[in-house]
Amino acid sequence: MSGIGKKVAIGIDLGTTYSCVAVCKKGEVEIIVNDQGNRTTPSCVAFKNSERMIGDAAFNTAASNPTNTIFDAKRLIGRKFSDPIVQSDVKLWPFKVIGDLNDKPMIVVNYNDEEKHFTAEEISSMVLAKMREIAEAFLGLTVEDVVITVPAYFNDSQRQSTRDAGAIAGLNVMRIINEPTAAAIAYGFNTKPFNHGCRNVFIFDLGGGTLDVSVLTFENGDINVKAIGGDTHLGGQDFDNAMVNHFVKEFLRKHKNDISGDPRAIRRLKTACERVKRILSVNSETTIEIECLNQGTDFSSLISRAKFDDLNKSLFYQCMEIVEKCIADSGINKSNIHDVVLVGGSTRIVKVQDLLVDFFEINEHSRTKLCKSINADEAVAYGAAIHAFILSGELCEKFQDLTLREVNPLSIGIKTQWGIMKTIFPRNTMIPTNKEEVFTTTIPNQKFVAISIYEGERKTTKDNNLLGTFRFEIPPCPVDVPQLVVNFQIDNDGILQLSVSEKDLGIDKRFKIVNNKGRLSKEEIERMINEAEKYKDEDIRHRKKVEARNALEKYAYNMRDFINDPDIISKLSLKEKENINNATDLVFKWLDVNVVAEQQDFECYRSILSSVFDPIVIKMIKDEGHGVQAVALPGRRGFKVTPITDTMLNS
Ligand code: ADP
Ligand code: MG
Repeated sequence: MSGIGKKVAIGIDLGTTYSCVAVCKKGEVEIIVNDQGNRTTPSCVAFKNSERMIGDAAFNTAASNPTNTIFDAKRLIGRKFSDPIVQSDVKLWPFKVIGDLNDKPMIVVNYNDEEKHFTAEEISSMVLAKMREIAEAFLGLTVEDVVITVPAYFNDSQRQSTRDAGAIAGLNVMRIINEPTAAAIAYGFNTKPFNHGCRNVFIFDLGGGTLDVSVLTFENGDINVKAIGGDTHLGGQDFDNAMVNHFVKEFLRKHKNDISGDPRAIRRLKTACERVKRILSVNSETTIEIECLNQGTDFSSLISRAKFDDLNKSLFYQCMEIVEKCIADSGINKSNIHDVVLVGGSTRIVKVQDLLVDFFEINEHSRTKLCKSINADEAVAYGAAIHAFILSGELCEKFQDLTLREVNPLSIGIKTQWGIMKTIFPRNTMIPTNKEEVFTTTIPNQKFVAISIYEGERKTTKDNNLLGTFRFEIPPCPVDVPQLVVNFQIDNDGILQLSVSEKDLGIDKRFKIVNNKGRLSKEEIERMINEAEKYKDEDIRHRKKVEARNALEKYAYNMRDFINDPDIISKLSLKEKENINNATDLVFKWLDVNVVAEQQDFECYRSILSSVFDPIVIKMIKDEGHGVQAVALPGRRGFKVTPITDTMLNS
């Protein structure tokens, strides 16, 4: 990549269904389009024979390759296989997920004719690497530094795993920030003039499969999360499914044929419904048309926005119940919310916006404003890019006062007697932060001390989430004598570290949460980084193979067109025509059966073709009197004259 010496940091919204990448240059944010011209890229990875596809290419082949097309990795990241949320998700996915010996979920695919197991971190790293590639292609620079966003409710383990995914993709993750905070930054809530006084902001993020709502307050630049809420299974896919069910019934009614048991037809119908849904956010009605949906029967139907709204009525009201609960939890009256920020592709749905306007009683006179000037599915990446820009030390008047301080989303504490949780950092503590506690022993000559750390809001630790247990040995001494000073620190990413010291006993240790079984070890991450490089090489090998196949096919077709050209055919001898025909026939037959040949095989057949073809063309040019300075290359319309190469003349 060119541009050595220049460094640009990017922001990536690593979404459950779609990801988005943005860059901020000289204070201006740009959402980067991918190779398909799209501003968001499906968070999807597919494996097919020896090919690995990421993004749109993977998404587009999902119908024909369901068991090897992986999506929703974000639902798995940092979770254990036995987690009830994972267990219920696994039942719905067409791909296979198993638990390994450490209860870590492993995604099973067939790649290169082998069964391969991938962690959610690895799949996410592939999506991140794709987003980086998109940015690099756009910027013409190598990109390493990145800010990645995560939902506000992500716990320590999910944040760490997201960071690991970045490392596997070869990225330098400068910071992990909360999605609602990023969206708020996009709207400039903690820059002037907003940071004068207090501003209450409601973030409504309705994506492909999840609803995340939060109430944030901005007070003189500090961000406080007052309440979060949501539903991990409520989003765009549910609206698509409601439409799919409607059309399945209609197909049954019209054609007396139930397609609900035909997975391919359902997959195609679902893709079409997603498209229709997007159109209905702009138009009040549209037509769905699918050729040969089932047993050769075409399907076509008209659907109005009113019908779509009616099909999803109960889901939309469910969203509003979650909004109401979050506002109640925050203790802030809805009339005191200054800004309602729309985030996530599904907030483009007109009815969703209408319901929010009604709930918050938004009109031109009200204090509450609806923020939708930035595309909802881009707002998070937009804010992440600003954050990356500032962290990379760029100066810009516009963001001068941005404080970029977040809070920890869940309380962190330790287990004490009777399993009671003693809170060290209450939720909403501004990070980074640290706190010291002094511990001692309770039995004579105690050999070791163990500290178990939990996160969550419940009184007893068994109801909260265990982050890790730290054990360290101490020399024998009487009860109450050791003065173990434990320093708890939360870094900028909201990740916990611990250090323990006892001056008289010579203890001085530092811990990261590593004995949480779900986490990848340093060695595993190292191995995955190497493998990621290997997959990248495989991708390049595959691309070159496809290019060589296309080049051969194109050459053979051009040869055939050439001898069928009436101007040329009369100038060829019978033997020459026969030679060309035999050579192209041989290649077409070989191409038909050798679907998995290698790059050099295609190139070898190409040289066979040119050894037949070039001498004929060269001879023709000489005869025609064009001179040997030019050779005819087969094109669709006769031949065009191109300077001859030495190799051609020599052959
Ligand atoms: P994520 O869930 O990964 O955060 P997004 O915020 O990008 O993803 O939301 C993706 C969802 O938004 C998809 O279900 C998609 O169908 C939906 N969506 C995108 N654009 C529109 C639109 N114009 N109208 C309705 N839904 C949309
Ligand atoms: Mg999102």
